[in-house]
Amino acid sequence: MLTYPVKSLIKDPSLVIPVKESLELEPRKYNGELVEFLTPVRVEGELRHVGGWIIEFKGTLDFDVRMACGRCTRPTDLPLHSDMVQRYIADRQENESGDEDVEVYFDEVIDLSDLIYSEISLAIPMKVLCREDCKGLCPHCGKDLNEGPCDCSQEDTDPRWDALKSLLQ
Ligand SMILES: [Zn+2]
Ligand SMILES: [Zn+2]
Repeated sequence: MLTYPVKSLIKDPSLVIPVKESLELEPRKYNGELVEFLTPVRVEGELRHVGGWIIEFKGTLDFDVRMACGRCTRPTDLPLHSDMVQRYIADRQENESGDEDVEVYFDEVIDLSDLIYSEISLAIPMKVLCREDCKGLCPHCGKDLNEGPCDCSQEDTDPRWDALKSLLQ
């Protein structure tokens, strides 16, 4: 559950509510890429009163994912981290600051789920590479070119090189 009653914070602004959650997520697609969660998503932070009816959540997200390399499809693991700051204002209060980034909370309970699930998807990159110079797969035979050249690589040279070669002859 990612809901926190915050009545006590409004009453006593010196209080802080610690947030510590661990979410086990099933593999799912983000931006068309399958993402496997190797660790639970760890959420750590605090809720505090920052004036009026406004509560601020400040925290971090940490988790490791496995995705296919965008070039060679090899499984690639990467640690992800994200810093979050979000303000919430009570539904009874007009948002006088005009700040559109402020979310509304109802019945003195803050629900962090929307924030956390959207931060998780923002933290996941569109594409990963198993290494920066990954050579990818041969478009003809599908061989992983990181393991060495394939047989079709000889014939399939860049035509610009052919032009250069004929100049040198
Ligand atoms: Zn790769
Ligand atoms: Zn090939």
